[in-house]
Amino acid sequence: MQRDLKAPVLEIKNFNVDYGLGEESVQAVRDVTLTLHRGEVLGLAGESGSGKSTLAYGITRLLPPPGVISGGSVIYHPPGDQPYDVMALTNAELRAFRWAETSIVFQGAMNSLNPVHKVSTQMLDVIRAHEPQLSQQARVARAQEMLKLVGISADRMDAFPHQLSGGMRQRVMIGMALVLEPQVVIMDEPTTALDVVMQRQILAQLVQLRERIGFSVLFITHDLSLLVEFSDRIAIMYGGRIVESARAADLYKQALHPYSDGLLHSFPALRGPRRELTGIPGSPPDLGAMPSGCAFHPRCPKAFDPCADTMPLLEAPTTHPGEDRNVACWLHAVERVRG
Ligand code: ATP
Ligand code: MG
Repeated sequence: MQRDLKAPVLEIKNFNVDYGLGEESVQAVRDVTLTLHRGEVLGLAGESGSGKSTLAYGITRLLPPPGVISGGSVIYHPPGDQPYDVMALTNAELRAFRWAETSIVFQGAMNSLNPVHKVSTQMLDVIRAHEPQLSQQARVARAQEMLKLVGISADRMDAFPHQLSGGMRQRVMIGMALVLEPQVVIMDEPTTALDVVMQRQILAQLVQLRERIGFSVLFITHDLSLLVEFSDRIAIMYGGRIVESARAADLYKQALHPYSDGLLHSFPALRGPRRELTGIPGSPPDLGAMPSGCAFHPRCPKAFDPCADTMPLLEAPTTHPGEDRNVACWLHAVERVRG
């Protein structure tokens, strides 16, 4: 199916998040500009601590203290209506926005089902809160249909969460996130607690559902191999910044940022000749003591003169015209200067 991957649904612009205030504060998300297009699966990858969850909580205004959004906007484009800035919504408007327009499956969400209520009750509550005009019968039909879509049979509807396996609970959470047919679904490591086979199964199902229901997905994981397989585009985060974004196929063919390249070489090749598994030496930066220039330079095998002094901008490299990709790396910025 050909999708219009050009129309934006969520535009994150120059987004900043700090933890704490004043001198003690650290910058967890910096100048993130990223667009999710209609019908697209956008993957966000990066090592632990790179700011992925902070970004997800920030853009949905669910950031708990001491997190502070210190700049930027998140423009949401409702279908057939005027776009608006999520950062400017009142609390009441936000409640309607969440679930109905954008829903989120959090890291470790499978444990966030209420243990004392049946799965069906929890799902019906969500529907009731947002679509009070629906009859009980219509709600039950909707809940059943959604659970069926995520592979939970109708006879498990009345189970309590502890009666379900981890994979099933995760499916329920994904079903709850989709039940109001939101435009945007944000999934923050929704499958890490599951085994690899289950992860792939759930993701494959999600991509199929996307084809049928037509939502857009921001899928967050540190497992780049999943994204290469299932997403349309991939953005790579390091030290709170996006360092590269590209179509999944283009990134897999050739990562331009040495950090993305390191991540790609942290898992075995999906097909074709075996790649050497090298991984990335060193560890992610300490937010309280970020390296100067490009934050990756102390770990970068290709660092050279400008890298330690000046931060490279996230820009389209001139070497890959027509690929719709951006990279923040002096290796490619220098090409640009040379023309
Ligand atoms: P993971 O892959 O482990 O989930 P992540 O990319 O989601 O990592 P975040 O949880 O967004 O990373 O954290 C980004 C940075 O913000 C980390 O360096 C973390 O230490 C810091 N951080 C997160 N929560 C807080 C907090 N409550 N107070 C201070 N710093 C925090
Ligand atoms: Mg996280």
